[in-house]
Amino acid sequence: MAMPSAKWSRFGTSIFSVMTMAAMRNGSINLAQGFPNFDGPDAIKDAAIAAIRGNSNQYAHSHGIPKLRELLANRMNKVSKLEYNSENEVTVFSGATEALFCAFQAFINPGDEVITFAPFFDCYPAGAFSAGAKLVEVQLCIPDWTFTANDLESRWTPSTKAILVNTPHNPTGRVFTKSEMEIIANFAIKHDLLVITDEVYEELVYDDLPFTRMATLPGMRERTVVISSTAKTFSLTGWKIGYTFAPPELTRELRSVHQFTVFCAATPLQVGICAALELSDNYYKTLRLDYQERRDFLCAGLHKLGFKFHKPEGTYFVVADYSHLSKLPDTEFTLQLIETKKVALIPTSVFYTNPRDTAAGQHYVRFAFCKDLGTLKAGLDNLA
Ligand code: PMP
Ligand code: GLN
Repeated sequence: MAMPSAKWSRFGTSIFSVMTMAAMRNGSINLAQGFPNFDGPDAIKDAAIAAIRGNSNQYAHSHGIPKLRELLANRMNKVSKLEYNSENEVTVFSGATEALFCAFQAFINPGDEVITFAPFFDCYPAGAFSAGAKLVEVQLCIPDWTFTANDLESRWTPSTKAILVNTPHNPTGRVFTKSEMEIIANFAIKHDLLVITDEVYEELVYDDLPFTRMATLPGMRERTVVISSTAKTFSLTGWKIGYTFAPPELTRELRSVHQFTVFCAATPLQVGICAALELSDNYYKTLRLDYQERRDFLCAGLHKLGFKFHKPEGTYFVVADYSHLSKLPDTEFTLQLIETKKVALIPTSVFYTNPRDTAAGQHYVRFAFCKDLGTLKAGLDNLA
């Protein structure tokens, strides 16, 4: 019998799969895994269906169909004034997850260190591991999930090769301020680091707050790989259409890995997503306002229940302190909630390198508010 490789066994099953399966088994309300319980506009789905019925069913260009790359470059230019050439600076991936994996493979060598902020999205350690690198965490400071230049500096070693920055940030909902982004940029320039930015929540920034994109800061475009996704922006997380913007020499390396992971993202879905990028500005405004309403509704409910939290400036997550309710560690607490309250949440300690050593992660749970108001209300009622 074939023996499994021991290498990957340490990662077990993703917390998102664990919690969604537990929620289904127990008939619980799923405020755990971050997927909307509604779909993006019909116009996008219709375009993909037409593409399937038409003749868009064979492999696409490995780096993405030209029209989509062009639309992505136009959108980026519109929101940031950054100019990327769709021919050699824009690439389409099977989700931001694949793009992250390719970035680790393309730029990180065995023994390198990659700095990121904890808590962090669960595929970051796996990406670093796949490259033989070490993920070095800077823990965001509770209760406001901030950091200082010294926090970053204290993590630097001669092996540091890159910094991976996720803003708007999963799970805390932080949108890093311009001065925080400048701290990171100065650190990257000082130590000549590559910057990988994960901007998948770029359109989910609330209260008209500014969103500072790393590549817009002086000296950063040439050292930054921007990773984003259509998953959250168009409420189509199952389509897995992600993309990158990077200078030609970095894009070449990303494409080189991508051709041997999935070769190309699903062709008819790439065609469908073109219709998404042709939606008017009003679409993005409505998306933001609808999410802001869900955020405010959930936050008001959590406040009434005595949870303490930093109100998220972006994303569709709230990380809340439950220490007034239970002294159980977060993993046990979330399992108990699924059974006794029929609500599924995510324990946040899993978003740290050493979950058990992390005071920060021990009494915090993540709520996802990418659900209709009725579902959020039902979740809050169950908790009450
Ligand atoms: N980065 C972050 C921070 C995420 O929360 C997610 C989850 N969607 C991803 C990347 C992956 O995006 P995709 O679904 O496009 O692979
Ligand atoms: N990004 C989603 C979340 O944080 C989950 C994505 C996934 O399941 N891989 O909940």
